[in-house]
Amino acid sequence: MISVEEALRLVLAHCPTPTTEFILLAEATGRTLAQDVFADRDLPPFDRVTMDGIAVQAEIFQQGIREFTVAGVQAAGAPALSLQDSSHCLEVMTGAVLPGNTNAVVPYEQCDIKDGTATVHALEVRLGQNIHRQGTDATAGDTLVKKGNSITPAVVGILASVGLAEVEALRQPTIAICSTGDELVDVDQTPLPHQIRKSNVHMLAAELQAENIKTNLFHLPDEPEAMFTALREILKSHEVLLLSGAVSKGKFDFLPQVLARLQLNLVFHSIAQKPGKPMLFGTLPDGKTVFGFPGNPVSTFVCYQLYFRPWLQQHQGLPAKKATGVLAESISFKPNLTYHVPVTLSLENGMLNARPIQGSGSGDLTSLLPAQGLLSLPSDKVEFLAGERFPVTLFSFAL
Ligand code: AMP
Ligand code: MG
Repeated sequence: MISVEEALRLVLAHCPTPTTEFILLAEATGRTLAQDVFADRDLPPFDRVTMDGIAVQAEIFQQGIREFTVAGVQAAGAPALSLQDSSHCLEVMTGAVLPGNTNAVVPYEQCDIKDGTATVHALEVRLGQNIHRQGTDATAGDTLVKKGNSITPAVVGILASVGLAEVEALRQPTIAICSTGDELVDVDQTPLPHQIRKSNVHMLAAELQAENIKTNLFHLPDEPEAMFTALREILKSHEVLLLSGAVSKGKFDFLPQVLARLQLNLVFHSIAQKPGKPMLFGTLPDGKTVFGFPGNPVSTFVCYQLYFRPWLQQHQGLPAKKATGVLAESISFKPNLTYHVPVTLSLENGMLNARPIQGSGSGDLTSLLPAQGLLSLPSDKVEFLAGERFPVTLFSFAL
């Protein structure tokens, strides 16, 4: 049995570096950029009008002129007009190119237009006012976003504005989520008295959906030969196996022996933690990765959060997320195991206050309903006092 810290270190040490692929902009949110993004033109690409109004020469106003003959209208999306007579004006719309021979925009709110003449009642008109000058934000060729960044909605906006309908991103792993257990039936089935519906695999698929990763779900019966055949088939088209159940010491926990037949390099089996003690982790000769989570729903979820998510984070080139929570009420925990206690979280004076949730153990999925994270209490202590600080793992929908 290894420590929580050692288990995480080993999981991350066995995380492969992904290749890259081109993806459509519509599918890019949440992915990691694998290319630098350059400005293809100046930003903005022309002197852009920022208010609806009239474009004038500021000097003419400064000479005391207040009435300007309207010589035309410059709409957004129309090629640039040019003011022929410096004492005239052109009506201009937000987003239009600033007409030639003008250098200030007076908003409609500061003038009246009647019978083809605009009377300006502004107190001052400054050179360049209400104009977003060409190249102010970036010059053509500038790097706007560096590779390795996460593609946020703002990055999507930049990608669109520089014309990248497709973008190079880190490839996501292909993931199979497999339940095990002859007591399990599908969601749409009515279980017999001795059966239950599968919940773990749907919970994991939902988590991965939140990461914008599609998964495939499978079920393996509690029978070694059938397990072996099914896994061999699943591995043909998936790089990562998230397995739930069948890794403990029960008579029907066949996964360790089946995985050994598939030549798993077993990196560890069992972590000094509660819940999730029987978790196993290993790699296959072709570089594929296997996470074997214990089947109790809370254990599966906790192991996913504590080991798989950091693995995925690293796989996608993103920095590890670390946070500290303040224990809101004292608790004691005797076993010599790290205790990952589900907590609700609230921000108080800039600190994350973590309040333990009472549940009836790792089979109690309802105890996860209010949980926003896990507070990890170290194995070398028994009493944990309110106000003490411990590492906290935030769930994806945490705050
Ligand atoms: P195991 O790790 O296979 O011994 O399973 C431990 C407990 O988790 C048993 O009570 C199982 O019925 C339950 N369990 C296993 N897999 C699932 C699943 N996919 N959904 C819900 N409960 C499960
Ligand atoms: Mg089982």
